[in-house]
Amino acid sequence: MTYALLPPAIPSLPIVGSDQRFAIRRVFCIGRNYAEHAREMGATVDRSAPMFFCKPADAVVGDGAEVPYPSATHDLHHEVEMVVALGGGGRDIVPEQALSLAWGYGVGLDLTRRDLQAQAKAKGHPWDVAKAFDHSAPVSALLPAQVAVPGADTVLQLHVNGGLRQQTTLGQMVHDVPHIIAALSGLFELKAGDLIFTGTPAGVAALERGDRFLAELVGMARLEGRIV
Ligand code: MN
Repeated sequence: MTYALLPPAIPSLPIVGSDQRFAIRRVFCIGRNYAEHAREMGATVDRSAPMFFCKPADAVVGDGAEVPYPSATHDLHHEVEMVVALGGGGRDIVPEQALSLAWGYGVGLDLTRRDLQAQAKAKGHPWDVAKAFDHSAPVSALLPAQVAVPGADTVLQLHVNGGLRQQTTLGQMVHDVPHIIAALSGLFELKAGDLIFTGTPAGVAALERGDRFLAELVGMARLEGRIV
């Protein structure tokens, strides 16, 4: 069998301490997973029903990337998030077994065209143009869970041009990682290679051309880049 056109490259991320790379299958994101961020967006948290959306795998860009300011927006926002990389999957996974699927951890930015998201919310339209654009998912190198696993006290933070923009501990998440994986697996069959963005704390704000960002899962993962 041959392809009529050359198959697209498989998106991937580097792995801390390894020459191998992590091949990406899908990118899932949870919304409104920190109460204070939900409040700043004028939304409420529904603890019984987590809200999900997706980004295409080829929207992922790695550490050190120059991220082009996207078209069609005047309000590009940063959302710093812990990213979980799955080493296995399944359907209808129970929370008690979900953490064993987490192969590694990183930190990422869920870049958002906030103006287009506001329009989509007002019209009841889907969020794709606000969330799933090219280069919308910068992610750090992944730290294998065999090396370290983040805890409730682990700090997630973002500096822009040296100034602190967002900071939280992971214990502030509404839905923790096992419950996110369990809920997602009731909607999609999860597989090795999936990435999950686990939600952003308060402090989301605009990025401008020339801004330098430093996202950290302190002691575990680091992501630097620049908007160009
Ligand atoms: Mn987000």
